[in-house]
Amino acid sequence: MTLTEKVKEYYEKRELKHPNIWEALGWATAELGEVYEVLMSMVGGWVRNNPDKHPQKTKEDLAEELGDVIFMLIVAGIEEGVDPIQALENKMQRKLEAKSITITQPIELLTDINPSGSMSYGDY
Ligand SMILES: [Mg+2]
Repeated sequence: MTLTEKVKEYYEKRELKHPNIWEALGWATAELGEVYEVLMSMVGGWVRNNPDKHPQKTKEDLAEELGDVIFMLIVAGIEEGVDPIQALENKMQRKLEAKSITITQPIELLTDINPSGSMSYGDY
């Protein structure tokens, strides 16, 4: 069972109203905010109001919130009949199979952003 199929099954089993793409993208945005909140709490010196109500976040929290973003992006795709996970799988396969283009000149222009002096681009 694919991840997208599991998400579909989740909605079916719970008899939940399936969000349309606009709602799902709204929720994905909200979840991205939660990712940001976790990151901020992991930054040293960051002070939150009512810290007793908000325990220190961990990398597990970060992973969970990133997963929530992916979950809502999958939901957005389901409603439109597309599978973003499969699309990403396909894209990564193409990228791994593609011959990369390595830019070595002009080095002077690239050293500002990459001290190694070279950059490699895949197929975007
Ligand atoms: Mg969340």
